[in-house]
Amino acid sequence: MKIFYTCEYCGDPIDTLEVDQVDEAKFGFDCLTAQERQDIIKTDAAQNAIYVKSLCDYCITAMGLDDNVALGMTAVNKGYTH
Ligand SMILES: [Zn+2]
Repeated sequence: MKIFYTCEYCGDPIDTLEVDQVDEAKFGFDCLTAQERQDIIKTDAAQNAIYVKSLCDYCITAMGLDDNVALGMTAVNKGYTH
């Protein structure tokens, strides 16, 4: 299964991960509410892919979100950013 991260703000592809199994805790998905998951995560079973809306480093910095963990979006980003 492939996981595609795309920046919600500028639309740039951020990263693509290939995983055998989606570990929701590892990716930070378990931190999201059901509504946030619906908004952020799109599963494409036919393509065996998951599309995750996130924010690229540039947009995080541009919006000054790097110090702000109050937004739901950053839960996904925190799982992604090392
Ligand atoms: Zn961006």
